[in-house]
Order: sequence, then C-alpha cells, then structure tokens
Amino acid sequence: MADKTDIQNAILRCDKILAGRNPYYQRLSKIGKIKFLRRLVRFMEEKRWTGQRGIQVTGEMKVLISGTAIQLTFGLKNFNLHHFHTINVWPDKYESKVAPGEIHLGSATKTGVINLSWNYYQMGYAIPNDRINLGLHEMAHALEINYLFGADFDVYFACFIDLWEQKRREESHKLAVGENTFLRAYGGNNPREFFAVCVEAFFETPAELRSAMPETFIFLCMILNQNPENVLSDYAFHNSLKGKIPISPDQLKKYNSLKKENRHLYDQYYLSQRGQISLLMVLATLALLFLPIFTGLPVFLVAALASYLAFRAVKQDESKGK
Ligand SMILES: [Zn+2]
Repeated sequence: MADKTDIQNAILRCDKILAGRNPYYQRLSKIGKIKFLRRLVRFMEEKRWTGQRGIQVTGEMKVLISGTAIQLTFGLKNFNLHHFHTINVWPDKYESKVAPGEIHLGSATKTGVINLSWNYYQMGYAIPNDRINLGLHEMAHALEINYLFGADFDVYFACFIDLWEQKRREESHKLAVGENTFLRAYGGNNPREFFAVCVEAFFETPAELRSAMPETFIFLCMILNQNPENVLSDYAFHNSLKGKIPISPDQLKKYNSLKKENRHLYDQYYLSQRGQISLLMVLATLALLFLPIFTGLPVFLVAALASYLAFRAVKQDESKGK
C-alpha cells in the first residue's frame, strides 16, 4: 500500500506535469490546485488505462488526460465519470471497432470506454485559443453519457442540461444551416455534438463565446457550475438558481423519466445513423441477390409493351381493311 510520502510525491509529480501543460490548472490558486490534484489522483487511479497499437501509456499521459476530465467537472460535486472504467490511448487516428471503415480521433461509448488519439489530444492544447480541443470534446460526451447511462451522476448537471435541451436543439440547427458561424459546423450534427463543441469554446475562448452567444455561455456556466472567466476565484460560478431547484423524491422520480426520454433521444441521434447504414446494406444485398430478376423485369416490360403495340397495330390494320 502507498504510504503518505508516496502520495505526496505522486501529487508533486502531477503538479509539475500540469504546471507546464494545462493552462486551466496553471491559473488556479494554491487551494484550487490542491482540490484539483486530489480529484485527479482519484480519477487516474480508478480508470483502467490501455495503450492501443503498441503505444505505451506513460504517467504523463495519464496525468494530462485525467486533468482534462477534472477541468471539465471542476465545478461539480460528482466529478469522477464513474460510468467510464477504461481509457484507450491511440497513437494517432484509428479505425473504429464499432463502425468499421470509420476513422476516429476519439470517442466516448455507452459501454464506458473513452478512446483518444494521443497525437490529436496534444494538438488540442498546443493552440490554446482555436476552439478545437479533442480531450475536452470527448470528456464532454463522457459527462453526458455518464448522466444518461450511468448509475451515479451529478444531479445539478443533469437538471441544467435537461433545461437546456430545447434551446440547444435550436442552436445546433442554426449551426447546421449556417446561421451561426462562431462555432464549428460540426456542432450542427446534433445537440450532443453541439454541447461538446460548445465546451471546447467555453474553456478556450470564454470571453468570445460570451459575447457571441451570451445565453449559451450562461447555460454552460450553470450546467458545469463554473465560470472559466472568473480566474480570480478558481472559476467559481455564483449560481443564484442552483439553490432554488428542489431535489425532492418527487422531483427525482420525474427527473428519472426525463432521463429515459433523453436516452431514447441519444439513441435516435447516434444509432439511427448506424441503423440507416445497415438498412442500406440489407437493401444492397437483396438487390444483388435478385439482380437477375430486376434486370429481367424491364426487358419483360419492354417486350410486353412492344407485343401490345404490335398487336394493336395489327388490329388497326385489320379494322382499316374492313
Ligand atoms: Zn463528438
């Protein structure tokens, strides 16, 4: 078992790694850093880490990736994304095992696995203000999946993201049709992608997001219970609404049925796309099997039409002759 000095040394090592690489961590106060590191060590130790395609998962990788999760959930009580048991690190882009033929940079799955390309993960932090951050994007998906499919989740996160559902659908649609160009068009794919794309902007360029999309910015502050602009107070968000939402047994019951609806929506967004592809494949197979009949049919129709026309012509000739 690790003794106190081991833990202290581990925390010091984490501090050193994050101080050079994670700007969010760098700006925390001493007390904020202690809270961050305690959470990080727990997160890191609870997950199973596996290197894919020959990559060795180093201590530095674990600290940085865990740091991204802790950054996202820093304002929440329930911060550990318990539903996620495994983190797969890939050297670069990879072919998805779930959807063969699709090339992915990362993903968070319903079964509790986070996949990340280490190369693209690092690029996310290399340019701190381009609103592209793979780590934050996938952790945002993980946080939402953790609520939808996990047994243990942050209740306030769940409440506020539910309140936001209608609004984010509208905002996602605006991106899809080009009415909003501040965020990446990828966020227009569906409301889940919209949330993940918003999270990237929320942490990388909070002031710009606030002035371009003030309502979205406030919702994100409520959902994550933090304000990335409030650097002086460890990103605290003074949420006047929070205390006003009662979490009584009745509320929880109502809330769990909402969760079921949202799971259904999630499946609609993601699985229906896959469903459509499978349907197309079934149709293509059927077409191949019955191709001789399909190709025979037009020939038959043409032949039938030709015979009919020929028959009518003969009849007309006969009537003329009468
Ligand atoms: Zn995504």
